[in-house]
Amino acid sequence: MAISAPIHRPGATSAAAAAPERADLADFRALAPRIDMHGPRYTSYPTADRFHGGFAEGDYLAALADCAARRGEPLSLYLHIPFCDNVCYYCGCNKVVTRDRRRSARYVDYLRREIALVARHLGGRRAVMQSHWGGGTPTFLDDGQMRAVMDALRTHFDLLPDGEHAIEIDPRRVDEARMAQLAALGLNRVSLGVQDFDPEVQRAIHREQSVEQTQRVVDAARRLGFQSVSMDLIYGLPHQSTARFAATVERVLAMRPDRLSVYSYAHLPHVFKAQRRIDAGALPAPGEKLDILVGTIERLTAAGYVYIGMDHFALPDDGLALAQRQGRLQRNFQGYATHAGYDQLGFGVSAIGAVAGRYAQNARTLDDYYAALDAGRLPVWRGFAMSADDTLRKALIGELMCNGVLDIGAIERRHGVVFADEFAPELRELRPLAADGLVRLTPQRIEVTPLGRLLVRRVAMVFDRYLREDRADEGRARGVPTAAPGAAVAPLVRYSRVV
Ligand code: SF4
Repeated sequence: MAISAPIHRPGATSAAAAAPERADLADFRALAPRIDMHGPRYTSYPTADRFHGGFAEGDYLAALADCAARRGEPLSLYLHIPFCDNVCYYCGCNKVVTRDRRRSARYVDYLRREIALVARHLGGRRAVMQSHWGGGTPTFLDDGQMRAVMDALRTHFDLLPDGEHAIEIDPRRVDEARMAQLAALGLNRVSLGVQDFDPEVQRAIHREQSVEQTQRVVDAARRLGFQSVSMDLIYGLPHQSTARFAATVERVLAMRPDRLSVYSYAHLPHVFKAQRRIDAGALPAPGEKLDILVGTIERLTAAGYVYIGMDHFALPDDGLALAQRQGRLQRNFQGYATHAGYDQLGFGVSAIGAVAGRYAQNARTLDDYYAALDAGRLPVWRGFAMSADDTLRKALIGELMCNGVLDIGAIERRHGVVFADEFAPELRELRPLAADGLVRLTPQRIEVTPLGRLLVRRVAMVFDRYLREDRADEGRARGVPTAAPGAAVAPLVRYSRVV
């Protein structure tokens, strides 16, 4: 579908905190089928698929040495616990499906060794403002295993009590006693996987979880004083329809989580083996899937949730919404965050750290992870050392995704560049997006409109040098000239990496 006229409504604001209005959602619904919505989530820039094996342990040690030189600064930690009792068919995570707690006992032993090994290079005991246990299913660990990991963390780090310490939990496997243990360990935020409450959808994705189970966990979290309860939903799953998903949304709204993520299901059975168990014929058609998304955004914003960006929503008094209003929202590997400016250490199999301008990702398999630690080595698999250009582009993409505006003068002063010279191809590529009403361009600012916020990845992709190089390579392979100054920009290739 083509939209010929620019979509600009007088009075529409571009501030990141502005809620998408009904007209924005209607424009989005019309525009989305012809705009490629696939693309990186930019939880890092460059994205993880650019990491390479030339980055090795020595590079990560150099990053840790730089981090140690700033020992007064707090840190952020990510721990990956890869085990799950059951497989959910939609899953694209790096996980190990097992019921055997001996496997997690062994893993915890190695995790403690890795924590101790890394801590040795940090110049002393460091404060931690943010920690996140992800997976897999972190609550797969039994009480003793969980305590052992936390003891290791507290031996080497000072987990600040006013920091954000979050854990992803599977409501099917957690009872009140376990919730009390999590609170006693110092965790103060929980994130619950829900996906969909419809029984037929749940059967099709092999994740049967009742409303009552979920409600019990939410009630326990409130009673125990957890500061934040967040929930994940997924749209685009088999047997979903607008009406059915709306019923799930109503049940979720009744629980009033502080934060909500509504992710799009990407059916990639050639990449994720578990997805081969999903009947592609039962997936909602693209138009229905879009209607589900639009209806959900409309309902959540009407219920008082603030649209944070991409697939995230928060209550107005939640830290994310506050950070967005104050223009200090950031992105890290967990998505939108209030404390993303710190060096982040990643522990566990496949975990990614971001330290002193470098990304480092751990071994993807348990065997490789264990072998490296047995040899006394950091289990680095691959990584990336950012250039000055990467750092600048990361800042631009972060600003667009979080705060929805680029102040050109401020960027020029901060980074010592002439924006129009440095980003001439990008400015050309933004023009058609401006014509579609996704951005507003002036000599001083690039503003993402409320409509553009719904497609903000598409705007951010303009500043991704590596995607541009991919397009140039693809254009050369097809014999299409792409580099002539002033030439029309080569169309974006369909981009379907899941990162
Ligand atoms: S979705 Fe979560 S609980 Fe389900 S298999 Fe994947 S990691 Fe495990």
